[in-house]
Amino acid sequence: MARYTGPKCKLCRRDGSKLFLKGNRCETAKCPIEKRSRPPGMHGFSRGRPSPYQVRLRATQKVKRYYGVFEKQFRRYFDMATRQKGNTGVNLLTLLERRLDSVVRIVGFASSLSEARQLVNHGHFTVNDHKMDVASYVVQKGDVIRVKKYGEILEYVKSQREALGNPSPEWLEINNADLSIRVVRLPVDEDVSVEVDEGLVVEYCSR
Ligand code: SF4
Repeated sequence: MARYTGPKCKLCRRDGSKLFLKGNRCETAKCPIEKRSRPPGMHGFSRGRPSPYQVRLRATQKVKRYYGVFEKQFRRYFDMATRQKGNTGVNLLTLLERRLDSVVRIVGFASSLSEARQLVNHGHFTVNDHKMDVASYVVQKGDVIRVKKYGEILEYVKSQREALGNPSPEWLEINNADLSIRVVRLPVDEDVSVEVDEGLVVEYCSR
């Protein structure tokens, strides 16, 4: 699967907000956003007021970068979201939040999305006792995700989670003893971990 390999902090600087793409570094004073660094490019701050189109584009780019998806895949999620009942923007964000790599990140098994994706791609997780190495797998209500019982990985994931303060999103039930995750319900608007105006994203995608 294609992935972005360029400078990650540049993406946050362009967006002007933290996208948490570099793991533990994002929580330290070394984060360029903490230092209020200027947007990338020669003209940095000197660009004028953004047009409504730019505002919508930025919101959409933010979502794509936060969840690490490219245009084609993003469009597929948008189409799925439009076919579901309810608010399309919320449907879109909750679908992305349910990706397996996103779940691994938000429960603190990995410090960044790229690390979470690597753990999944290397086959360290099972879903309902079946090996699952597809990062884009969208979890369903009732799914049980487990770390495979390799001593080293289990210890690593445990220490990462502890270091990140044992995050426990309300829609997931995490058993700290065996590090299994049960999807107790599907996420709703309040459970989405990225701060963005989903209306802008829908306006951009519907143009
Ligand atoms: Fe870089 Fe992380 Fe800060 Fe983004 S949040 S600018 S990836 S250190």
